[in-house]
Amino acid sequence: MQTVRDNKWLLYRLNEIWDRYFPEIKESNPVVIKFGRYSKYRLGSIRLDRKVNLSLITITGMFKNLQIPQAVVDHTIAHELVHYTHGFSSQRQRLLRYPHAGGVVKREMEERGLGHLYQAYRDWIKEYQKLLRTAQNG
Ligand SMILES: [Zn+2]
Repeated sequence: MQTVRDNKWLLYRLNEIWDRYFPEIKESNPVVIKFGRYSKYRLGSIRLDRKVNLSLITITGMFKNLQIPQAVVDHTIAHELVHYTHGFSSQRQRLLRYPHAGGVVKREMEERGLGHLYQAYRDWIKEYQKLLRTAQNG
């Protein structure tokens, strides 16, 4: 069992997900992934640094906590990879006008056999939002 979640582990997860669920997607420009600061609301992001032609995926430092199911971390990585695939924050051809239009990320995930990750995320986020509300009211 994994005991430390660090940037190396994130890269390992990214490669696993990419090889298994996005096999035909070429790395048209390099992708790096790392933990960012602890963010409660922004779980992940991807941006393109045009100067160095690098897509940078940042995952909230909150996910270093081993209590957070791995499927939830995997879901966040897969979500950013869908944006990359659609040409957002990557040098790939942009296929859509808006990154989240019409539930397109969820649909892409389901088509790629990632529905189980989406479900794990839905289950987790429901509980997590409850927790946040309790913390705010307490
Ligand atoms: Zn997104």
